[in-house]
Amino acid sequence: MASVETVGGRIDAEQMGLTLIHEHFFSGDEAVTVQWPHVRDHDREYSLALESAEAVKGHGVRTVVEPTAMLLGRDIAALQRLASETRLQIVACTGIYTYDHLPQFLANRSEDFIADLFVHDIEQGIQGTDVKAAFIKCAADEAGVNDRIEKVHRAAARASLRTGAPIMAHSRPASNTGPRQVEVFLEEGVAPEKIQIAHTGDTDDLDYIERLLNRGVYIGMDRYGIDLFLPTDRRNATVLELLARGHAERMFLSQDFDIPIANGLDWYPPEMIEQLQAAGAATDWSMTFLFEGVIPTLKEGGMSDAQLETMLVENPPRWLGV
Ligand SMILES: [Zn+2]
Repeated sequence: MASVETVGGRIDAEQMGLTLIHEHFFSGDEAVTVQWPHVRDHDREYSLALESAEAVKGHGVRTVVEPTAMLLGRDIAALQRLASETRLQIVACTGIYTYDHLPQFLANRSEDFIADLFVHDIEQGIQGTDVKAAFIKCAADEAGVNDRIEKVHRAAARASLRTGAPIMAHSRPASNTGPRQVEVFLEEGVAPEKIQIAHTGDTDDLDYIERLLNRGVYIGMDRYGIDLFLPTDRRNATVLELLARGHAERMFLSQDFDIPIANGLDWYPPEMIEQLQAAGAATDWSMTFLFEGVIPTLKEGGMSDAQLETMLVENPPRWLGV
């Protein structure tokens, strides 16, 4: 039987239950955290994470997949504490979250060296613990799949081939990154069902989306609540049309909720969060918006209970199980 590594240990894949595939409990600029620790408020971050964890449990969520990688402040000790205090199953990753820049340490080393780092986290454990990464994260954004980003993608692919761990790739449909990201993975020999192109739901261009789906990969309709990139009604219309076209088995629903960012603890100072919210950037964004403000509307629009079960319960172990 397939299994999945969680922060609390290995579980049968079928035990994942209702799963949010893309949410961030802890994140932050790791260089700032190390150099100026006084600007971080770990107690507040932890209590906000606890609040969101309890809130999702209230909706029956049993597993949260937490794709916070290197350069986004992955903090395995904090995830361990949260998982043990809440009994929520949390799935951690390895990988590098960069849109362009690579630290010199990585810029001057090969794809295979970077793949070794990823394999270490998958086979040995993360940050000196015995918590193992269940998947590999990488990203492409406005800068596109340039040399540095391609290198991280090839490293992710090689680590996936060596371990069986799947890949989650942050994408930016507005920059047409998805097709090239898929191409790089397939060139390296990764099976399409091991690939998830995150943030595909930031577009309602059905041709773009179906070109990805036709390669056999999973897509993340995973930023519900971030109206800045696409408002909820257009996300819903897209999901409903893709369901009608029979794509439920390759889709994930999530929110990409990032607690420190949403609360002005990282990326944006509080006053900038206020400006963004005043402009309607992400007014409804939370780790439970999907249940409170999206699923009821999707059901009214024709989504069946079986389709919902496929996306939230059956797809996660199918993509993550090894
Ligand atoms: Zn994310």
